[in-house]
Amino acid sequence: MENTRNTRQRQLILSLLREADRPMSINEIHSQVSHSLPRIAKSTIYRNIDNLLNQNLIEKYHFNDNEIFYRIKEDVDEHKHFIICDKCKNVFDLPACPIHEIEDAIQKEGFIIKDHQIQIIGICSKCAGEEKLK
Ligand SMILES: [Zn+2]
Ligand SMILES: [Zn+2]
Repeated sequence: MENTRNTRQRQLILSLLREADRPMSINEIHSQVSHSLPRIAKSTIYRNIDNLLNQNLIEKYHFNDNEIFYRIKEDVDEHKHFIICDKCKNVFDLPACPIHEIEDAIQKEGFIIKDHQIQIIGICSKCAGEEKLK
């Protein structure tokens, strides 16, 4: 019984992230999942998210220090970075990852790299345009 319920929650979170096709915060995921499972606790969402992370089905991103977003991975080898507009919160893909070269150099020093993040803070061209009009 417990397992069936867990599978249902998991599937729900996965399909939510798949449909959204952009990184979502825990709060967003929680409020969306509550439409189908009104009594679900945020701690339950966290537990499911942790499982999905461990299975490498989703990825975690840090934005603006304390905001964490989750996004579905198209495949396990997928590697992407994002920038979120500070104003409209729209998500934009970074064209490439420049970190691997740096990682290679650090790894030669014997450092074991587990993950990396790229954090760029700013506003998109649309919001920048609106700012100029003020
Ligand atoms: Zn914007
Ligand atoms: Zn990268």
